[in-house]
Amino acid sequence: MSRNPVTNPAVRFDELFDPRLANIRIVLSRTQNPGNIGAAARAMMTMGVRDLALVNPERYPHPQARAQASGALNVLEEAPVVATLEEAIHDCAWVVGTSARARHLGDEPMTPEAFAEKAKEISKTGRIALVFGYEQSGLTNEELDRCNAVVAIPTNPGYSSLNLAQAVQVLCYVLRRAAVSEVPRVSVKTDNPIYQPPTAEQTEQFYEHMERALLGTGFLDPKNPLVAMRRLRMLFNRAQPDLNELNMLRGLLTTVEKPKRRRIMTAGSEE
Ligand code: SAH
Repeated sequence: MSRNPVTNPAVRFDELFDPRLANIRIVLSRTQNPGNIGAAARAMMTMGVRDLALVNPERYPHPQARAQASGALNVLEEAPVVATLEEAIHDCAWVVGTSARARHLGDEPMTPEAFAEKAKEISKTGRIALVFGYEQSGLTNEELDRCNAVVAIPTNPGYSSLNLAQAVQVLCYVLRRAAVSEVPRVSVKTDNPIYQPPTAEQTEQFYEHMERALLGTGFLDPKNPLVAMRRLRMLFNRAQPDLNELNMLRGLLTTVEKPKRRRIMTAGSEE
């Protein structure tokens, strides 16, 4: 096994792939640029997809494919090279083509999300092939005839064609997201151990403080402060400041009421 700079060395190669994605095969048909093959292998591995098949690639094996695969060389080395699409998909229960344009006679292409949901169900019992076409002109009508469905990544209608490996990346991502059944979670401020929500009383004190300060600056009209205050309340209620943030805002209001003079540091001066 090759040295792999991007994966955790403590994890065995077999463990790097999600068993829930084991029945997903990425098929690249007649790929022209070997760099795209390597980049597709890398895209797959970042999403835990392992099974790659290459149909009649134009130049392969090729050092550019290895270079672009980065740490995903094993995905590349395991990938069979076959002469026809039929061979690559022969054991698959569901074959899905990919296209930047709607041209499959009859059916509308599926959205990536609908595709991923269906793939999640079918892959519990059968293998799925996701087929990607030639860089210049995409999948041929004959290749699309072999597909049970077509998926299109919605893009800018005036410029709809993604780079091949980037299309692999997007679709492997939606497959992974559906397979693990959770929307990837970005850390939220409530995760922070110092997070503490303010009480209604503390929030009210903040609004009273703001009203005082803004009456002082003349921003609020003393005859009618209500409407502006209500809009400011709406803004801060939407932001839901935590206690720490609320205290910072109160500190800010205090400097509005009583500006703080700071000593200006000049070059050569000391603390
Ligand atoms: N000029 C070709 C685009 C080929 S891009 C055309 O208009 O069809 C090479 C491959 O990347 C396509 O065959 C498809 O597999 C994939 N691809 C590119 N853009 C895509 C998109 N928006 N949705 C799904 N697959 C896409």
